[in-house]
Amino acid sequence: EMTPQGQFLSGYYSPDYDIYSESRLTLMSDLREALNKNQTQLYYQPKACMTSGEIVSLEALIRWHHPERGWVYPNDFIPLAEETGVITHITRWALEQGIADLAILLHDHPNLSVSINISARDLETNGLSDLIETTLNHYHVKADRLTIELTETAIMENPEIGLTVLERLADVGLRVSIDDFGSGYSSLSYLKQLPATEIKLDRSLVMDICSCESSKIIVETSINMAHGLGYKVVAEGVEDKETARLLQALNCDWLQGYWLCYPLPIEKLKPWLNGQPKLFED
Ligand code: C2E
Ligand code: MG
Ligand code: MG
Ligand code: MG
Repeated sequence: EMTPQGQFLSGYYSPDYDIYSESRLTLMSDLREALNKNQTQLYYQPKACMTSGEIVSLEALIRWHHPERGWVYPNDFIPLAEETGVITHITRWALEQGIADLAILLHDHPNLSVSINISARDLETNGLSDLIETTLNHYHVKADRLTIELTETAIMENPEIGLTVLERLADVGLRVSIDDFGSGYSSLSYLKQLPATEIKLDRSLVMDICSCESSKIIVETSINMAHGLGYKVVAEGVEDKETARLLQALNCDWLQGYWLCYPLPIEKLKPWLNGQPKLFED
């Protein structure tokens, strides 16, 4: 049996590995429809300053409640959306929704910024920076309020295109964050040429720094090196106070994770921001 793309379905064929299997195509057309009807939502997870406790930024994360399947999480559809190209719809939708929400949030919290996740595939799309500029202008939001999160793997997939687009985004005045830093194979030396403003330490690096001395040394070294190169450092996936304390002692700038706050829909986030407890309150 051959797929429409001409791949031969051997005895080892597993539908899970065929991005064009019927159920996966249905999932993608459902997703397209949900995006068009605005049935997807952005949840926001705060990042706090380690020293002042101030909420500096919110990361926008897509949430999708499927009419029959219930909640479908990003890890179950983002990779497929990237392979099929549906990711460009997600990105367009997330930029529009995220910047519209940001414009509202800025009334009460003028120092806040929002970060949006962007995929490797988006970098190949012409006009990403134009789209962002147009949307920012439409909502009267300054470029430096918006951060683009891009994984190191996405950049390294095509470093030339990646660098060119990043430079354009930085020229527009956007902040750029290197997401999931330390999760891939990339060497530390490539950091010196990136027009980025912050480095996000991957959860896998951060999670066991209290129990594993070598993890602690890797994180400490990464923070010092990033600072030496002029980047701010965010730790993602911080789940307990001990880890937060240690990251503070290691001079990490910002923290994000369930310990501080789960990703929340904007109507729940607003009251949380107003009644936000102090970090490390004893
Ligand atoms: P990411 O950008 O690295 O986002 C962090 C993920 O870790 C989020 O998962 C977040 O909910 C989760 N997380 C936050 N704090 C903790 C913690 O303390 N412990 C643990 N175990 N997890 C924590 P989520 O929302 O399921 O998203 C997964 C990934 O999907 C994201 O990883 C990002 O790569 C992608 N993604 C999500 N939304 C979008 C989007 O709108 N566009 C694109 N292109 N990708 C997205
Ligand atoms: Mg991210
Ligand atoms: Mg991340
Ligand atoms: Mg991650």
